[in-house]
Amino acid sequence: MSDFITVDDALAELLARIPDTAVERIHLGLGAERRLAESVEAPWNSPRFDNSAMDGFALRWADLKSVPTTLEITGISAAGSPSSEVVTEGQAFRISTGAAVPSGADTVVPRELCDADTLEVTVKQRPKRGEGANIRRTGTYLKAGEAALSPGTRLGGAEIGLLASFGKPVVAVHARPRVAIISTGDELVELGEEPTSGQIVNSNAYMLEALVEANGGIPQVFPIVADRRKDTVATFVRAIASCDMVLSSGGVSVGDHDHVRSVVDELTGGMTFWKVKMKPGKPLAFGVAHLDTHAVPIIGLPGNPASSFVGFHLFVRPALEVAQGASPTDAPLPRIEASLAGPVRGSRGRRAYLAGRAIPTGHGITFEPRRNQSSGNPALFADANALGIVEEGREMLKEGAQIPIHLLQ
Ligand code: AMP
Ligand code: MG
Repeated sequence: MSDFITVDDALAELLARIPDTAVERIHLGLGAERRLAESVEAPWNSPRFDNSAMDGFALRWADLKSVPTTLEITGISAAGSPSSEVVTEGQAFRISTGAAVPSGADTVVPRELCDADTLEVTVKQRPKRGEGANIRRTGTYLKAGEAALSPGTRLGGAEIGLLASFGKPVVAVHARPRVAIISTGDELVELGEEPTSGQIVNSNAYMLEALVEANGGIPQVFPIVADRRKDTVATFVRAIASCDMVLSSGGVSVGDHDHVRSVVDELTGGMTFWKVKMKPGKPLAFGVAHLDTHAVPIIGLPGNPASSFVGFHLFVRPALEVAQGASPTDAPLPRIEASLAGPVRGSRGRRAYLAGRAIPTGHGITFEPRRNQSSGNPALFADANALGIVEEGREMLKEGAQIPIHLLQ
């Protein structure tokens, strides 16, 4: 077990150990934001037939040796209504965008380059592309059988549109991971109970439930666990048995009442790591429990809501992506450069993550850090849309300095 490791190493260790969820076949219309669990080939050529890229006239290039030239209009090919007639010398067909190119024609001249009445068309100018202009040839985009989408691809509107264009009603995707959410702490009361002295509301359960839901998981919230070892073990065992991933908050440090670390260690046969060089969120336990049928990753987040929030975005969010089929190299949050709108402080020996807002400026992005970065502040990340990153060892950064950030939405 590595003891105190960097965020990048921790993330690599963690993502390498996240198993894919089961494959399920669902209706294409329910596929948004899921990840493909199959490779998909084009079932037919795309386009399926030679068709026109413009509204205009389909004709023979050989008839345009000198322009202007006048041709007889002998047919119409409209989208959805192809013509079976042939275009011969001196003839042209009216054609609309997407309509099949009639046989005999080898070029489409856009209407803008012609004068036409119902019987005749005068082509004033030849299309610059020459013979074959404005015709989308069969199979230009994809040949029948050609690979179109690979496993792990996230299904957004464009991908779903492509699958629908293939006439594919059902897709194989990875199941949404069932994620157990366990809150530990003697001081916690449920929402709806009035906290008495020394008590706080179990806000992490709601925060994590919302974050899991927003990132493709199915949250399963467990009742609050008191700081007792046997209760902690019992709840983790139940969570492992019923879920694909287990998240907990609190109890992961070295205090007398902190049992999560030792329980995760026991149930996983040895944690992969439990301390990460980051601020906030240093104590963060990770291990994998191996059942006969499957393996269940356990991520023990710190109890402090700000630490839990940062830990979720850095580790749990990418883990949910990998569980749903993303490659571990694609899963970490991308970094982009931003210019600081105010001074910030780093942390000695740890990478610091700062709450703030990223604002597009027209020539880049400005990062406005929250003035008070205290991780005890429950409002720290409310309405924040970015995490600023100050590398380990950078004490102070001035306004205007460039820093990497992660966007949170
Ligand atoms: P712990 O990591 O258990 O030492 O908890 C650190 C601090 O985080 C505690 O003192 C609480 O103030 C807070 N905390 C722990 N669990 C929760 C929770 N579920 N919801 C909100 N705050 C919590
Ligand atoms: Mg605690």
